[in-house]
Amino acid sequence: MNASVLVINCGSSSIKYALVPSEPDQPRLAGLAERLGSGDARLKGIDSRGDAFTQALGEADHTHALAAILDRLEGNRPSAVGHRIVHGGERFTRAALIDDDVVAAIERTSALAPLHNPANLAGLAATRRLFPDLPQVAVFDTAFHQSLPERAYRYALPEPLYRDHGIRRYGFHGTSHAYVSRRAEALSGLEGGAWLTAHLGNGCSTCAVWRGRSLDTSMGLTPLEGVAMGTRSGDVDPGLHAHLARQLGWSLERIDEVLNRDSGLLGLSGLTNDMRELEAAEATGHAGATLAIEVFCYRIAKSLAALSCALPRLDGLVFTGGIGENSARVREKVVLLLPHFGLQLNRTVNGETIRGREGRIDAGGRHLWVIPTDEEGQIATETRQRLDEANA
Ligand code: ADP
Repeated sequence: MNASVLVINCGSSSIKYALVPSEPDQPRLAGLAERLGSGDARLKGIDSRGDAFTQALGEADHTHALAAILDRLEGNRPSAVGHRIVHGGERFTRAALIDDDVVAAIERTSALAPLHNPANLAGLAATRRLFPDLPQVAVFDTAFHQSLPERAYRYALPEPLYRDHGIRRYGFHGTSHAYVSRRAEALSGLEGGAWLTAHLGNGCSTCAVWRGRSLDTSMGLTPLEGVAMGTRSGDVDPGLHAHLARQLGWSLERIDEVLNRDSGLLGLSGLTNDMRELEAAEATGHAGATLAIEVFCYRIAKSLAALSCALPRLDGLVFTGGIGENSARVREKVVLLLPHFGLQLNRTVNGETIRGREGRIDAGGRHLWVIPTDEEGQIATETRQRLDEANA
C-alpha cells in the first residue's frame, strides 16, 4: 500500500493525530485535541502550509473531536487508519486488522491497562463510525516485546498468577524501541546487530534488541516498572506497598497515585518533572534537581547493564525520547557510568546534537546514536505492512 495513513493515539481526554504520507519527506498534518469532555476542549495542530492553528471545540467528546480533525485534513483522505493501542496482552504479537473479534480481544486486555485501553477503544469506536469504509489497524505498544523469552517475562511468583491472570512482564514503548533499533541498524550497516535502546521521555524504558527482536525490556506488567521517570517511581521494593499501607494507613489508590504521579524526577527534586528545568536548576546548585538527575542517570545505566545480560554481545546504544534526543548532559552521565561497555563518547558531537537530528555521538568503537523516535511513522509503516499482507 502506498498512500496516507491517519495515525490516531487516543487518551482518556485527548487525541493525537498525524496524517502520514507514503513519501517520508512529504509534510505531515498533525495535531492534538485535548481537554475532551471538559467543556473547554480545543484542537491544536499544523496545517499544510506548516502554520500552527488552535481551534476551540467547547463541549466536544472523542467523536466530535475526530470530526474536527477530519475537517483539518484539508480534503486529504487517508487510505487507512492506524491506531496506537497500549496493551495487546499475549494475543497480539504484531499489528492486527481491526474487526469485531479484535475489538473484543482488546476489551479483554483492558484489565491489564485500565487507564489506557478503554480510551484507545473509545477512539477506535468513534473512528470506525466516522470512516466505516476505511481499513483500520491496531498497533500495540506491547507487541514488539512478545519475543521476550520466558525467563525474561516471568515474575518469580506462583504459577497460577501467570496462567490464570496473565501476571507477567509485557513491556511498553515497543513501537519506539522497534523504530530506533531498526533505524540504528540501517544507519550503521550493522544488520542483525545487538543493541541497547533507551527511550527517555516523560515515560522511560530501556530495551535489549538482537536480530531485530526484543529480548528484554525494563517495563513490566504495567508501565511503572523499571527506570525512574518524569513522575513515575520505576522500581521500588515490592514490600513498599505493604509498608505504606501498614505504617501510614495509605489506601491502594493513594499508593498508586503517589508512585505514578508524584514520584520520579518530580518527587526527587521537589521541583518539576521537566528535564530542561531540572538542568537549569542544577546549574544554580539546587540540591533536589542535582539528586534527581543523579538518580535518573544511575538507574538508566544500571538498567542498561542489567539488560546487557540478554544480549550475546553489544554493538551499540541508542538514545531517544525528549530527554534522550535533547539532553547531552544525561547522555554523557549515562555513558560515563558504563565504563565496562567500552563506549567512547565524542563529547563535542554529543554537545552539539540537537532535537530532530539523527547523529552518531561516539568517537569510534561501539556505536552510540541519538535517533529521534517516530512512533507515528512506525505505526503508519506497520499499518501499511499489515494491509499489504491482508491484500496479498
Ligand atoms: P512524552 O513521553 O510525553 O512523549 P517527550 O518524549 O516529549 O515526552 O519528553 C519529554 C521530556 O523531554 C521532558 O522531561 C522534557 O523536559 C525533555 N526535554 C525536551 N527538550 C529538552 C531539552 N532541550 N533538554 C533537556 N530535556 C528536554
